Amino acid sequence: MSNEKPLFIVDAMLGKLAKKLRLLGYDSLYSSSIEDDELLHIAKNENRVIITKDLQLIHKAKKHQIASIQITKNEEIEQFLQINEKIDLGKCIISGSNSRCPICNGELKYTEKNDISEKVPTGVFENMNDFWTCNKCGKVYWEGTHIKNLQKFNAELNDRLSS
Ligand SMILES: [Zn+2]
Repeated sequence: MSNEKPLFIVDAMLGKLAKKLRLLGYDSLYSSSIEDDELLHIAKNENRVIITKDLQLIHKAKKHQIASIQITKNEEIEQFLQINEKIDLGKCIISGSNSRCPICNGELKYTEKNDISEKVPTGVFENMNDFWTCNKCGKVYWEGTHIKNLQKFNAELNDRLSS
């Protein structure tokens, strides 16, 4: 297997998992309204691994020789471990420079504080120093409490991945 990061396409039922994958830095397409045929088409064209709970979709993917991973678990960490059984995720990192936008899958770029003064609440602006902006949708991110919760998830995940 190459060292390049895998690309994913996540089926409509797994929106939360898609967001987590993006935050952990994996390029993951997701739409809540995508049809199977379109999903298969994109996966084939862009060399993306399909992640789904839908056994029928898994069968279709196999028929078209597209890599796919079937998710059977409901808990997020368990779902990540299922992905890792098929594709080595390595060590997962959550940081502004590694994560992708959870909303649109765009890349985040480090942004000068003064450039975003009007886009974040005053309290955040005064207390935080590091900001990232999504290059696609323009949303601004910073290391607030939600990142702390994610880091906890991330630490537990890495623990499970290496055990
Ligand atoms: Zn975005």
